[in-house]
Amino acid sequence: MTGAAHIAAAAVIYKYGRFNRPCLFFLAFASHFLLDATPHYELGLPANFLLGAGVLALLFQRARRQKDWGMPAAGLLGELPDANWLFSAGPVWHNIHSFFHFKKAFPASWPCLPLEALFLAAAVYLLCGKTQGRAG
Ligand SMILES: [Zn+2]
Repeated sequence: MTGAAHIAAAAVIYKYGRFNRPCLFFLAFASHFLLDATPHYELGLPANFLLGAGVLALLFQRARRQKDWGMPAAGLLGELPDANWLFSAGPVWHNIHSFFHFKKAFPASWPCLPLEALFLAAAVYLLCGKTQGRAG
């Protein structure tokens, strides 16, 4: 799953969730494993980084305007498990992440890419919508 999809999904959970903040941050973090469990295409690091940075820039821009930094924080929590690929947090964390990650059943997962792009577009659309009052 692209980092951008993880970040956007976690931010959508924060934006539209009706729980208190700690619960929303936990759900944002947990969403990573649910998304990783779905069949998806793995983008290379440069494209992944650029897409993720674009979504994070959108979240920071919205947060500055709304004076609520929860969305970018949730987005970063949603992407946090993949930081293991860059910073190697150890074999235990790697095993947990791999346990939830889908196993490639086909040699090429590229047909999943348009679905993932559609998912990302829907999440960004939701993030750009007007914010309703949120409890917590
Ligand atoms: Zn992951």
